[in-house]
Amino acid sequence: MGKALMIGAGGVASVVAHKCCQNSDVFHELCIASRTLSKCNKLKEKLNNGKTKVTTAQLDADNTSQIIALIEKFKPDIVINVALPYQDLTIMDACLATKTHYLDTANYEPLDTAKFEYKWQWTYKKQFEEAGITAILGSGFDPGVTGVFSAYAQKHYFDEIHTIDIVDANAGEHGYPFATNFNPEINIREVTANGSYFENGQFIETAPMSIKRVYNLPQIGPKDIYLLHHEEMESLAINIRGIKRIRFWMTFSENYLTHLKVLENVGMTSIEPISFEGKQIVPLQFLKAILPDPASLGARTKGKTNIGCIFTGLKDGQKKKYYVYNVCDHQACYAEVGSQAISYTTGVPAMIGAMMVLTGKWKKPGVYNVEEFDPDPFMDALNQFGLPWTEDFNPVLID
Ligand code: NDP
Repeated sequence: MGKALMIGAGGVASVVAHKCCQNSDVFHELCIASRTLSKCNKLKEKLNNGKTKVTTAQLDADNTSQIIALIEKFKPDIVINVALPYQDLTIMDACLATKTHYLDTANYEPLDTAKFEYKWQWTYKKQFEEAGITAILGSGFDPGVTGVFSAYAQKHYFDEIHTIDIVDANAGEHGYPFATNFNPEINIREVTANGSYFENGQFIETAPMSIKRVYNLPQIGPKDIYLLHHEEMESLAINIRGIKRIRFWMTFSENYLTHLKVLENVGMTSIEPISFEGKQIVPLQFLKAILPDPASLGARTKGKTNIGCIFTGLKDGQKKKYYVYNVCDHQACYAEVGSQAISYTTGVPAMIGAMMVLTGKWKKPGVYNVEEFDPDPFMDALNQFGLPWTEDFNPVLID
């Protein structure tokens, strides 16, 4: 049915590639392109590619003309961007120039400021409409599945959703004193930034990690959860009817936060370049280089993740609550595709989003966040491709 060009060959890309190959009827051909060709080839060797033809290519995705040249050579139907958020705009530009569909899992980030905003990518809407191509933004788990869960709740259970609490829990243990479970640079930028939540039409900023609760998560148990800013709140605030408040919560252990505090206090998490022995270096990029590679955590991580959304609102004039979540087991993911659950929970929805476009279910010209499409075929595919979800109609609410 289709050809996909995947950009990136890291933790998430590895899962996307495995899942595309498990879905050969949709993904006839896959080209894995990334900055380091050897990583693409290594990934290709690990795949059980079935009927999917897999090729590799070297690509600097900061360079639009290189991306255009590769697209013109390979002629994909869709580009799946699982490189880093810094490359979103160069890849979108190349998709526009070649009239190729686009999908990513994280909003564009300028190198010098951590913003977590969609505004740069939303400005492409008209151009994508005019070119007749679809761009799907944020088709990972969060953002991604959390938006699909919200659209599903809105479609099936609520006339108006008033509150959404997104709870992202990782109870996995990798045995290192400190490591991040996806790209360290992006992860640390996210957790050291100010928190924020949406209430009554505006975003309210909070100091980093200043709002904490304890929540008892199904299959995981009670965990400390901290309020963070997260990009999907920006689009959900626009796309969900009647919404009054959205908050995003993530679990962190005392140990993780202590290490992070020390690294922050000594300046290691800064994205401001410094001069070191005559060279300009970014402390956070240096830190990334010395931390364990997230892709290497798979074999050692044990435990589960639980990511879901708790909704309150009205149906037929009655107050209603609803919680929908996925539980994913790190070791089961590793046994299946050789990656831990964080990469797995991001890579599976990226493949599914691309499948929605290639099968025509989510194909409309423009730039969209996932909650703007019919959630039903995506929800079915989550069950089919390894991320089954569970519903609870009487959840405990977070105060
Ligand atoms: P990794 O660091 O493991 O992989 C990133 C890949 O991108 C590497 O292969 C890297 O190549 C490649 N890359 C970086 N820069 C370029 C470039 N200029 N040109 C070509 N390739 C490049 O990251 P992850 O796999 O953990 O994360 C991938 C994406 O997924 C990130 O954008 C992250 O924010 C997002 N994500 C989204 C989540 C969600 O739920 N929505 C959750 C987790 C992650 P090299 O190895 O040579 O550096």
